[in-house]
Amino acid sequence: MQTWTIDGREVPVVTANTVVVGTGSAGFCAADRLWELGQDDVVMVADKVNAGSSRNAGSDKQTYYKLTLSGGDGDSVHEMAQTLFSGGAMDGDNALAEAALSARGFLRLCDLGVPFPQNRFGEFIGYKTDHDPRRRATSVGPYTSRSMVEQLEKKVHRNGTRIFDECRVVDVVVRDGEVVGLLVLRTDVPHDGALSPWLLFRCTNLVYATGGPAGMYATRVFPHGQWGASGAAYRAGVHGKNLTEWQFGLASTHPRWNVSGTYMQVIPRFVSTDADGNDEREFLTEAIDDYGRLLSMVFLKGYQWPFDIRKARDGSSLIDLLVYRETVLRGRRVFLDFRRNPVRDELDASALSPEAHDYLERAGVLFGTPIERLRAMNEPAYQFYLGKNPYVDLEQQMLEVDVCAQHNNGGLVVDAWWQSNVAGFFPVGEAGGAHGVYRPGGAALNSGQVGATRAAQLVAARRTQAPSDEATFAAAAGPVLAAAAGLVRRASARAAGGTPDNTGELLTAVQVLMSEKAGPVRSAASIREALEQVHTWLCAYDDTVSADASSRRSVNRTFLVRDILTSAYVYLSAMADYVAHGGRSRGSVLYTDADGTLPLVGHGDASDDELDLPDVFRFALDGGALDEEVQEAAWVPPGATPDAAWSAVEPRSPDDPAGTPVFRWRARRPIPEDDDFFENVWREFREHGNIH
Ligand SMILES: Cc1cc2nc3c(=O)[nH]c(=O)nc-3n(C[C@H](O)[C@H](O)[C@H](O)COP(=O)(O)OP(=O)(O)OC[C@H]3O[C@@H](n4cnc5c(N)ncnc54)[C@H](O)[C@@H]3O)c2cc1C
Repeated sequence: MQTWTIDGREVPVVTANTVVVGTGSAGFCAADRLWELGQDDVVMVADKVNAGSSRNAGSDKQTYYKLTLSGGDGDSVHEMAQTLFSGGAMDGDNALAEAALSARGFLRLCDLGVPFPQNRFGEFIGYKTDHDPRRRATSVGPYTSRSMVEQLEKKVHRNGTRIFDECRVVDVVVRDGEVVGLLVLRTDVPHDGALSPWLLFRCTNLVYATGGPAGMYATRVFPHGQWGASGAAYRAGVHGKNLTEWQFGLASTHPRWNVSGTYMQVIPRFVSTDADGNDEREFLTEAIDDYGRLLSMVFLKGYQWPFDIRKARDGSSLIDLLVYRETVLRGRRVFLDFRRNPVRDELDASALSPEAHDYLERAGVLFGTPIERLRAMNEPAYQFYLGKNPYVDLEQQMLEVDVCAQHNNGGLVVDAWWQSNVAGFFPVGEAGGAHGVYRPGGAALNSGQVGATRAAQLVAARRTQAPSDEATFAAAAGPVLAAAAGLVRRASARAAGGTPDNTGELLTAVQVLMSEKAGPVRSAASIREALEQVHTWLCAYDDTVSADASSRRSVNRTFLVRDILTSAYVYLSAMADYVAHGGRSRGSVLYTDADGTLPLVGHGDASDDELDLPDVFRFALDGGALDEEVQEAAWVPPGATPDAAWSAVEPRSPDDPAGTPVFRWRARRPIPEDDDFFENVWREFREHGNIH
């Protein structure tokens, strides 16, 4: 670390070939792969090394998706690529690479000590996950991704890679369409002390593994402390892709955890209460009057997770919508009660669908209460909530749940090597947008390993040049630093002048707004309403934000909130553009459509009636209409003009202080048909390493 004078300030500068931002499963994988491939001039940086989804999130059986490595079932790289591609709006080169490198990424984790189960002969027996025609899924248990992080982290420590903790991303430094560095705020250093709270990284490559922009939603199962840093990327000119494609699903909110798998298969009672916990009632029966159908739908939610709009008309996604009606539309709270059976005191197993009956019978749990079934079937799932903060004893207490944001399938654009449109900037893991509309469960963790490996391969082979020289770097970083310092100066002057700190209030307000207007149920009107509000906040931000300079937390939040507002602005504009492009309900989102239909009562015949539900639940499926297209997003800063190929969904003045999000739709890239004749591939590999 050297101290330079930039823009009249003494600032520490770290120089490295590659900076990896984020210490989740994708970031650690990238850092380790770079080291293994001979590029050891690498440093890592994170806001909190122990934060992030990989280390802190999971589910009943957290899944990893890979090529079949057991048994007699046929499988092939091409077939797996097809499975991924068939999710719609996914680029074919990413699908092919994710299939081709899946075994390599997976076996690497095994070798590093992640205990993926294998039989006596070394076969990695798999199971079938959602959107999976084979049995490609595997799991270590509830904490698959945590185990991955822990083993990768140990390896990165053994490599001796330096990690800078407590550094919030402020801005990415770009010059002439190429990344040259990163500005971070040191959140462990007081802003008004002797040490510089700023730290600059000067680099040739930035691997951006900052995870999903989770801070955007209030109702989320992303773990505490996972915020994301996508706003900084948009501000730096990195494009986005498939941003509308969030996944939502039923999860407990205190503590945050997916209630998939056994938690649903044992068929708990769903109850809602008013805000104070009074007026308890079982609400599913209001819409589902057939007892057996109610039981079977709850059972199915165990493996039909997350919310899938294709199962809303006559399937298990009705449960998510009914929960949403209670929490969002009626302002009530929803709980799972494992102490009592739904509707009747005794479980009447004869009413169950054959599928549910057969499963529970084979598991030997066609008896008792949900908690008795849970403990018989999966004792660790019961114990899990005893060990969490807050602690919940499902024998004694109900568990609060909601339909929560869980994963963003879209993200920052990536090419076949996970490089974005900005040279040297590689979004990997959930920050990148490699997925399409649907993806098999477990594909996110595979994608993180594959993207990180591909980025490392390209960097180690093709981007070994030294970072920009001192003068060039200082010229690029100076204005970025000056703008950040100016924002804090004005915010703290306001606080000193008596304006109360408003960063916390604004953070909550944007999150609540996003969950209410742009969550699993959205309409053109609700999106527009939220967009107008976020635009107003963002325009006024520089002139209204107030933060006490003596509070590290306040200064930290000044940049956090700006990042979230920027992301929300781009995302809401993407949703508005999607609707304007003719987009309808797909994936994990219902777009209200006055000409659409409501979920059905469920008589199971052609004369079935629509349920008496609010009109916001009226929808029409997109039916794969936009599967061959990809929506790309860009943020144009104030004063700049967008390229003619892009269009804005809202007309904005070029000087709009919030900048202008612009969009284009392109055909997705097909799955490449590459030369498969060995001698040719070998020659090219010898001559070029096949990294191009
Ligand atoms: C409840 C739940 C269950 C899931 N289950 C599955 C599953 O079964 N299978 C599957 O494939 N996927 C699953 N996922 C998704 C998967 O866990 C994530 O997509 C994946 O772990 C993301 O890894 P990552 O390395 O990209 O990011 P993360 O692990 O989220 O790491 C992000 C890193 O960036 C840092 N960071 C974030 N913001 C900033 C900032 N502003 N400044 C500096 N640093 C920052 C964080 O501290 C962290 O180090 C699940 C997710 C959740 C929430």
